[in-house]
Amino acid sequence: MFVYRFVYLAFFLSASAKFIWKHHNNEELPLVLEEVHQKCPNITRVYALSEPSVRNVPLYVIEFSDTPGFHQPYKPEVKYVGNIHGNEVLGRELLLGLADYLCEQYLKTDPNIMTLIHNTRIHLLPSMNPDGWQLSTNFGGQDYLLGRGNNHSVDLNRNFPDLDAITFEFERLGINHNNHLLKDVTRLAAPLEPETRAVIRWIMSIPFVLSAAMHGGDLVANYPYDESRSGALASEYSASPDDDTFKEIAMAYANAHADMASVNRPGCHVNGPDQSEAYNFGKQGGVTNGADWYSLKGGMQDFNYLATNAFEITLELGCKKYPLENELENEWNRNREALLAYLWKAHIGIKGIVSDDTGFLENAIISVVNLTGHTPKPIRHDVTTGVYGDYYRLLTPGRYEVTANHPGHYPAQRIVTVPQRQSSARILNFKLEPIRYEDGALFFDPPFIRYQHVLGDQPRIYKRSLFEKVTNTLLEAKDTPKQ
Ligand SMILES: [Zn+2]
Repeated sequence: MFVYRFVYLAFFLSASAKFIWKHHNNEELPLVLEEVHQKCPNITRVYALSEPSVRNVPLYVIEFSDTPGFHQPYKPEVKYVGNIHGNEVLGRELLLGLADYLCEQYLKTDPNIMTLIHNTRIHLLPSMNPDGWQLSTNFGGQDYLLGRGNNHSVDLNRNFPDLDAITFEFERLGINHNNHLLKDVTRLAAPLEPETRAVIRWIMSIPFVLSAAMHGGDLVANYPYDESRSGALASEYSASPDDDTFKEIAMAYANAHADMASVNRPGCHVNGPDQSEAYNFGKQGGVTNGADWYSLKGGMQDFNYLATNAFEITLELGCKKYPLENELENEWNRNREALLAYLWKAHIGIKGIVSDDTGFLENAIISVVNLTGHTPKPIRHDVTTGVYGDYYRLLTPGRYEVTANHPGHYPAQRIVTVPQRQSSARILNFKLEPIRYEDGALFFDPPFIRYQHVLGDQPRIYKRSLFEKVTNTLLEAKDTPKQ
């Protein structure tokens, strides 16, 4: 349906439209994306997520790639999501500006931008919450909370399935299983909102490697976990198995930003109710662990990491949630290099293809042990291969043992060194040998069973999985019983 709408909209567009820094409303937002597409038709595609907002506003995405619409092996997929809280609007405008900038620089044959687009598939969702944006804007945009939620007043960044609770329970039980946990969900704390369902479907259908969600109200790059293990409401560092990598990618944004990582800048809340400098994030390099700041359940960031292969951080883009129109261009200048530096982080670590004599192996499991320090340290978060047998494993510089596993095949292991500076991930392919039954493999447990999702003979705590129900029934539901 939206295809026809674009044809209609395109009628009003001029090919030489210049991007203007302003607060674009929900009608203007797709026009900007369509203008960019008209200027750069060969490297862009505009699409909408599977369902619109509560008030029926489509959730538009613009994609940049030299093969728009198609995933290609060795080419990592990245996304930026803006305006999750409707009254936090800077990310929305920065993503519209970024779309225009990528296109313009590509047309000017900027070598960095051309290399980035030829080697990365980039998706920009400027507004996940157009209804909240409308409500906030109708009331002048300056209320601290009005328009934060969607049109059912639900906070979308608390509405994702709480996979932290599952991984923390596995940890307590000594079960080594920390990825693709959506199938272990047995109940949802609240019905999924349409915007959440649309984004979950999107997250589950594209093999994203890297992502950032954009907010406002502070100036910091926040990384998983957002939820504390003990239930503490604040000040409890909640490390994920990829803590080192998350710190590195969060710092990549903070350090390339004009002053996110500056120790001399004032904190956002010096004049707030507590008059404290307790959370002046500039003094800690512009980054924070989520739960070390404050704990939240049902956030999108941890969902990405625990349900898929994607690493997501949360960007608080400034003290003001709803900056004035005449401040937007300056904010763009302060964020531009950071936005680009972060996209390049999709190219750190290793990537490769897992195959056997018959072809690509989908859902092969890539496990990593960090050999850099004195004692080998397993990173207890595996990634899996996609339809082309391809995987992407973000890693910090160092030495690693990498194992590829696939049911019915002997595992393969290799040692790899990840260098200090990378503009492209090290390629590490695996060709696996099928287990031959004449070897007697049927009669003993092959060693790789330990690594598999099936947990060997360990007890399953979630006996009846709601995976099918969550991905199908709940996602299909058209009505939400809220309000
Ligand atoms: Zn927010």
